[in-house]
Amino acid sequence: MSRTIIVTGASSGFGAMITRSLADAGNVVYAGMRHTTDRNAEAVADLAGYAKEHGVQAQAIELDVADQTSVDAAVAQIVGERGSIDVVVHNAGHMTLGPVEAFTVEQIASIYDTNVLSTQRVNRAVLPHMRRRRDGLLVWIGSTSARGGTPPWLGPYFAAKAAEDSLAVSIAAEVSRFGIDSTIVVPGSFTTGTNHYAHAGHPDDEVVAKEYENLYAGAMDDLLAKQAQLSPADADPDEVARQVVALVDQPKGQRPFRVFIDPAQDGAEEVFRVGDRVRREFYREVGYEDLLRPAT
Ligand code: NDP
Repeated sequence: MSRTIIVTGASSGFGAMITRSLADAGNVVYAGMRHTTDRNAEAVADLAGYAKEHGVQAQAIELDVADQTSVDAAVAQIVGERGSIDVVVHNAGHMTLGPVEAFTVEQIASIYDTNVLSTQRVNRAVLPHMRRRRDGLLVWIGSTSARGGTPPWLGPYFAAKAAEDSLAVSIAAEVSRFGIDSTIVVPGSFTTGTNHYAHAGHPDDEVVAKEYENLYAGAMDDLLAKQAQLSPADADPDEVARQVVALVDQPKGQRPFRVFIDPAQDGAEEVFRVGDRVRREFYREVGYEDLLRPAT
């Protein structure tokens, strides 16, 4: 079955891989990117070349998740061209590296904007269409970060991913009676194959950052290197894309609530599974078990 799908943050990394894999599987994929005519023009051309070479339907669309006007325009264009949107992949994100105290409030707000408020902009544009059709799927690219054995110095990013996860969990129940399904994909740390680490933001307050560096000299880089060593050498970021294709292909009502792809096995899966079990038990106890699955 061919579905119409938007992937946000598709200029690089998981987003680019997910776009290609979903298109290879026969879907019509709109790869949301910002700066399509300048900074990301090469990514746009690469995708067009891929689509042509492989005979698949994937195209870039201007979509800056930090700008509601841009989001609304992209969604309107897709609905105009295709009549509906079946699946949204909330993938756009941005990481930070450095001691939390050295980030300004404005920087942390901006990290929340990219990783959390972005999803609200897209959902408020897409969900009215899905609710009307009583059908749809939200795929959230979450993270093991806030739950596993993870290092310090990634605080603003971890906090934002935890907030995104929390929104995803609540929205899943709220949209379920509209027939809209949700899955949270939970990748572990992949230090190669994406721009996640290379493009990480750093604290603006260099004076405070230096005071931390003086006391913890080299510790941040050392911890990140040790974290990377916990992953097997053959950890393949494309596995995230393969898992997204597999869950999109599953019938509504049978998709997993979470999918874990964590080669380092940092323990997050165990913690999430307890939380998800407690959530299921709560809904059963209060007589709202139906909210655990989309109405079919
Ligand atoms: P990348 O940096 O390669 O990808 C991030 C993408 O988000 C880029 O395409 C970037 O676009 C895009 N983006 C950022 N801000 C905006 C915006 N305002 N509008 C549109 N697009 C935007 O890293 P990953 O592929 O690793 O990250 C993808 C997702 O995976 C994120 O949600 C991340 O939190 C999550 N993740 C990553 C892990 C990892 O270890 N790699 C582990 C767990 C989760 P641009 O090129 O224009 O900046």
